[in-house]
Amino acid sequence: MSGISFEYFPGRSEKASNQLAETVKLLAQFQPDFQSVTYGAGGSDRNGTLDAVRRFQTETGVRTASHLTFTGSSQDDIRSFADELWNAEIRQIVALRGDPRDGSDNLPFEDTPAFVAALKECHPFEIAVACYPEIHPKAKSSEADIEVLKAKQDAGASLAITQFFFDNSVFYEFVERARAADITIPIVPGILPIYNFAKVCEMAEQCKTHIPDHVHKAFSDETMGSSAIEVASELLKAQVHDLACAGFEAIHIYTLNKVELAKLAAETFNSAKELHQQNKRKVA
Ligand code: FAD
Repeated sequence: MSGISFEYFPGRSEKASNQLAETVKLLAQFQPDFQSVTYGAGGSDRNGTLDAVRRFQTETGVRTASHLTFTGSSQDDIRSFADELWNAEIRQIVALRGDPRDGSDNLPFEDTPAFVAALKECHPFEIAVACYPEIHPKAKSSEADIEVLKAKQDAGASLAITQFFFDNSVFYEFVERARAADITIPIVPGILPIYNFAKVCEMAEQCKTHIPDHVHKAFSDETMGSSAIEVASELLKAQVHDLACAGFEAIHIYTLNKVELAKLAAETFNSAKELHQQNKRKVA
């Protein structure tokens, strides 16, 4: 098990889909445990996701998971999509509530744990779910957020992937709280490479992810000789290295469909994990 997984979103055109397929092949060299493809809110671009998961799994031989959201869909739509995935030999789903599209908040399932249970009833999928080290913006409290994650585990989820974060200490505290609440499934940190700092600040504002001062400072010092990509590379390496040295054995990389920083994150994680193992052997 490499401990690495990559996330993609479906290409919006034939050209973009073909380019993405090349990216997926390049990153498949890291022998990811799985790769996943996002699902448009309310089922928009449902076929784009289905085509992509089929294609990537066939072309790379890497286990490929489909994301699936339930807000704005019907139970019948969800079940028929799950059947199509199963028939295409897709065995893993990242099961999510999704956000309302066009203000329509139609919920075919009471909550995400009920959705996870329904998918498990359809077929024996492996189910991954999302979790939020800095609390979901709509959660009532951090305790309520942890309770929902526990309920998703109890409904059959076997893996949790976090929202992106830049402050590892927040993630470590979250994992401690989750373990104290009997959440035993692997909690995999979601890593977002920074290709465009202004855009990342907008996304972070929406999902209430804290951007630490040192990250702001690094980008404000960019003019002192380093390019934005150099700054992003150093920050990414430091974050991933720290996670591996803290003993975390897996990372989920939000690739944004690009190779460069995803590759760097995977390489850094592999070498830091190796170093960590060597140090452990020395101590033992
Ligand atoms: P839940 O587990 O149901 O909720 C998480 C927490 O927020 C709980 O505490 C819950 O009570 C609270 N909460 C959330 N929404 C509400 C609400 N409306 N009312 C009250 N409380 C609420 N979105 C996509 O559209 N497509 C994707 O492919 C996709 N992939 C993702 C992958 C990952 C790893 C992550 C972290 C997120 C992804 N998202 C995706 C975004 C996700 O759909 C949103 O964050 C959504 O708001 C919450 O989904 P969830 O399954 O975590 O929700």
